[in-house]
Amino acid sequence: MVFLPQEVILKKRNGEKLPKEDIARFIVGFAEGTVSHAQAAAFAMAVYFRDMSMDERVALTLAMRDSGSVLDWSDLDGPVADKHSTGGVGDNVSLMLAPILAAIGIYVPMISGRGLGHTGGTLDKFDSIPGYQTQPDNTLFRNAVQQAGCAIIGQTADLAPVDKTLYAIRDVTGTVESISLITASILSKKLAAGLGALVLDVKTGSGAFMPTLEASRDLAKSLVDVANGAGLKTGALITDMNQPLASAAGNGLEMRNAVEFLTGKHQDRRLREVTLALSAEISLMTGMAETSAAARKKVEVALDSGKATEHFSKMVSVLGGPADFVERMDEHLQPAPIVRDVLAGGRGTIAEINTRGVGMAVVALGGGRATPTDAIDHRVGFDRLLGLGAEVEPTTPIARIHAADEASAADAEARLRSAYFVGSGAPKFALIADRITATE
Ligand code: URA
Repeated sequence: MVFLPQEVILKKRNGEKLPKEDIARFIVGFAEGTVSHAQAAAFAMAVYFRDMSMDERVALTLAMRDSGSVLDWSDLDGPVADKHSTGGVGDNVSLMLAPILAAIGIYVPMISGRGLGHTGGTLDKFDSIPGYQTQPDNTLFRNAVQQAGCAIIGQTADLAPVDKTLYAIRDVTGTVESISLITASILSKKLAAGLGALVLDVKTGSGAFMPTLEASRDLAKSLVDVANGAGLKTGALITDMNQPLASAAGNGLEMRNAVEFLTGKHQDRRLREVTLALSAEISLMTGMAETSAAARKKVEVALDSGKATEHFSKMVSVLGGPADFVERMDEHLQPAPIVRDVLAGGRGTIAEINTRGVGMAVVALGGGRATPTDAIDHRVGFDRLLGLGAEVEPTTPIARIHAADEASAADAEARLRSAYFVGSGAPKFALIADRITATE
């Protein structure tokens, strides 16, 4: 029978469950141009209101994966795995997790994204390293994974190309916040990367896209069930984003924070806990360790022995960055012209942080984008950010600003002060709020 895209839209609009063949034909038609952007937008809106069953989500994810090529890593002699974060502020976990996993024999071909809204993007952080190629050709990407055990790069044109177009349509049609569509969007790209295992870091709290624990749990369950349903072994941790995870936020500053973390010069406590917990999950899932305790020990040794730093260094140099980046970071990372403290202005404890506000302050400094084509200033942001519960006097610095000029420093100072609330006592949030595994 002739395929009519409007019939698929009508069925979904009326709340019917779509057969997987209909979903596949709709996505193929969209990729080939026989389904229009208007029809894709109507479909997205119908899904937004009527939602999809798990089977439909799996079918959509697979159809989107198959709109491009799927990477094949069968020439590697170890498991292939990755992590995906739903996005946060001061979330530079990937920078340490990839080399930690490489150090225990897991290959990590990490396809990462740019900053979105108030959240930072791993790719933008790597652009702060002079010479590092975030868009290498396929041969260089494969060489880096082979030689360093990990390579963090940007999305290539042939990985789930339908997602790119559909995401742009969703962005301007009020259909981003659909758990079904988010699930298919994230997982189509991860499935196309040819992974054997995936761990998801689903953020919750004031700096997350899903602010409540309930919504984060729904998203985590959807991602875990659909990924496993599509044949990718996946688990998730729900982690706290009611305060920046690292004490730095901003691209070059998070890169510096990550290198100091790897070399042991400075490690933020919460960041260490989340990085090791996610690394241990992958170690367990890929069979590199048999128990949680053994997995944890393994990743701790990989980090504390300096082996992870060696893999990080190798990745940077193979992908075109300086061979001595770790040793001479100060010479390679550009400093901002203005560096100064932001004072608490009151006495008490840091009682609440509007983490989204901290992220927006970084964007306003030039560390993120106001429009998709904006250039990023990698020098700017904050470091020495205090966390919840820290005790302050009026003259205690709550952070240090790195800015390009006086006007943006003053704006960032005002934004940061309005994101930090000094009071008496602070609520305690569980750093790892939940662990989600596939439901049978
Ligand atoms: N990240 C994605 O890749 N897709 C979404 O839909 C949301 C976040």
